[in-house]
Amino acid sequence: MDFRMKFDVPMSSPDIGDAEREAVREVMLSNALSMGPYQQRFEQAVREFCGAKHALAVNSGTAGLHLGVRANGWTDGDYVITTPFSFVASTNVLLYERITPVFVDVDPATGNIDPALVAEAAADLNASGARAEKWLPARGFRAGGRLKGILAVDVFGQPADYDALNGTARDYGLTVIEDSCEALGAMYKGRPAGLEASVGVFAFYPNKQITTGEGGMIVTDDDELALKMSAMRNQGRARGDTWLEHTYLGFNYRMSELNAAVGTVQMSRIGTLIANRQRVADWYSEELAGLDGISLPGRAATTTRDSWFVFVIRLAPELDRTDVIRKLNALGIPVRPYFAPITDQPYMRAMFGYESDRFPVCADLGRRGLAIPFSGVMTRDQVAAVGAALRQVLG
Ligand SMILES: *Cc1c(COP(=O)(O)O)cnc(C)c1O
Repeated sequence: MDFRMKFDVPMSSPDIGDAEREAVREVMLSNALSMGPYQQRFEQAVREFCGAKHALAVNSGTAGLHLGVRANGWTDGDYVITTPFSFVASTNVLLYERITPVFVDVDPATGNIDPALVAEAAADLNASGARAEKWLPARGFRAGGRLKGILAVDVFGQPADYDALNGTARDYGLTVIEDSCEALGAMYKGRPAGLEASVGVFAFYPNKQITTGEGGMIVTDDDELALKMSAMRNQGRARGDTWLEHTYLGFNYRMSELNAAVGTVQMSRIGTLIANRQRVADWYSEELAGLDGISLPGRAATTTRDSWFVFVIRLAPELDRTDVIRKLNALGIPVRPYFAPITDQPYMRAMFGYESDRFPVCADLGRRGLAIPFSGVMTRDQVAAVGAALRQVLG
């Protein structure tokens, strides 16, 4: 059966309604297209939702992470421990500042950075010499750098293990950044994702839990970091600077009012948007239970709410993923491999000389992971169509 005949199942779909369209129209009819009331309302909504002291809207998640790196004072030649199992932006923000990313492998259940390996790497990098070398890339970095921090990623909607990571950070005087670009609305031990580190960042590309088209939001409880990042997103203008006074080297990372209007309306529905994602994930769990050849996403004991960025199944090692993808696509079901290790990307190999399989858990997840169509607006019938296609291909 060709499932295209009956159902059009996109890889992901934003949940945009009349209220979002009306808010954009209202901005278009006003004089305030940037730095207006919607930015403040959007920031307030995220602040209240997470219980953060500060929220700063920016024009992408990547921009937010970049400001977090700069505000923490991580700089040229420093070492920062991070994960190879992520979207490339979490590493790129380190490379923008000529920081050496020190990769460690991940937890096989969640794909999140392994806190035991982070502790081991921190101890060895602190000892320097031969002990430090085994964690570093083959080439392309400055030797003798200082370990400054940990950049962890909340992969697929589950927070990394921050109690353990923050323990290591305290032991070695490090700061931590939480890339929560896939985890708005998730909970770690009953606490909201985004607030487990000095700086947390959410992202609002159309496949995320909420969207603004493009956009991001920084959250922090630290007054000083908030002031710095607020100035740096706005061309380095500190509070009290005029339009042509620039206290800091800054960027234009501001979010427009059009995006902020969409985000404000999306935040007014955040509870429903997350609940809808959970409902679709539950349907998939029912639909795919007991299907040979795949395993369903695992959950860490520390995740008290999964905010479901994507639904990634794992194929049995003996299956040929390329063949499975081709057959599913032929049935009209889009799927996507998720993620190849960052260290396997061509520019990373060229810069640092990484070999494949340097991080075996990450490599294994990268080879077997398959994201299937997922969003909060999927219907039960669409989920059933994906299930039927998988049964046909794997059965
Ligand atoms: C989406 C995402 C980002 C940032 O995305 P932008 O497209 O810049 O908004 C960063 N890190 C991770 C892990 C992501 O999934």
